Amino acid sequence: MSAHTGRSSAVTVVGLGPMGRALAAAFLAAGVPTTVWNRTPGRDADLVAAGARAAASAAEAVAASPLTVVCVVNYDASDAVLREETVTAALKGRTLVNLSADTPGRARDTAEWAARHGVRYLDGAIMTPAPTIGTDDAVFLHSGPEELYEEHRPVLAALGGTHTHLGEDPGRAAAYDIALLDIFWTAMAGYVHALAVARAEGVTGAELAPFAQGIAAILPPLFTEFAADTDAGTYSGAINPITSAVSTMTHVVHAAEAHGIDTSLMRVIEGQARRVVARGHGSDGYSRVADVITGR
Ligand code: NDP
Repeated sequence: MSAHTGRSSAVTVVGLGPMGRALAAAFLAAGVPTTVWNRTPGRDADLVAAGARAAASAAEAVAASPLTVVCVVNYDASDAVLREETVTAALKGRTLVNLSADTPGRARDTAEWAARHGVRYLDGAIMTPAPTIGTDDAVFLHSGPEELYEEHRPVLAALGGTHTHLGEDPGRAAAYDIALLDIFWTAMAGYVHALAVARAEGVTGAELAPFAQGIAAILPPLFTEFAADTDAGTYSGAINPITSAVSTMTHVVHAAEAHGIDTSLMRVIEGQARRVVARGHGSDGYSRVADVITGR
């Protein structure tokens, strides 16, 4: 296989936090020659024992492979590594895939920087936890030049799971990532708040959890329905008008307040729904909030 197209194509992994280590381990397990580097030394012992080559510097690391995958905490961190002169010079003519998480704007900025320095650039986002890497459960999103993605797809496939190329705009993977993180963190905030309210009412987490899973199970069809609402601008509240939804939100606020539990998050949610009603859309569904919060 050619150095650029085959699964045997060498790869460099920059960043050896839990995710970077998982990526490097998956490449090694798939037989991909792998060079690793991390800002803080000493995080590569297991990987070296599994056959990785430890580079002495970031520049040496990126020079070792046609493809470098960087996975650090954010783009301030990836900039700190990649924009160092010797590293940028070593990257010239090679491919860089940035799987660190950050905003779409930072991804586009990095793509522009890469173009200015002759670095072939793909952006990406990882949507599943480190233990999924190398398994069928891993989910990777990619954006940037399709031809470049196709060229490196065989070696990226060593990371397991599903890989989706979302388009040429380098910010698109991060745009999905941000939207999906928005769902995740607000859901987590709701759940920990629910655990606190339940605990104050003498209901243990273990008692609540099976019913919480029941709530989670009703969400997938709602995701599809709300997506159609916001795409089409139709917000049918035939089954659950927002006037009715607001009432249940107020119950949560009152019950939590009775226990002295912070209700700031639920009050924001309730306030947004009340604004929909105040604008005369009380018979619409909850998805109408998407318009009100964007000033439509
Ligand atoms: P962290 O997000 O904690 O990132 C740790 C890595 O970032 C280490 O390699 C660390 O180096 C490096 N780093 C931090 N600051 C700098 C800097 N200024 N210069 C150079 N390197 C720096 O750990 P993860 O590995 O878990 O995450 C990496 C990325 O993957 C993140 O963007 C995260 O959001 C994303 N991700 C992680 C998931 C997970 O399950 N862990 C799931 C999905 C996405 P050092 O060791 O020297 O501090």
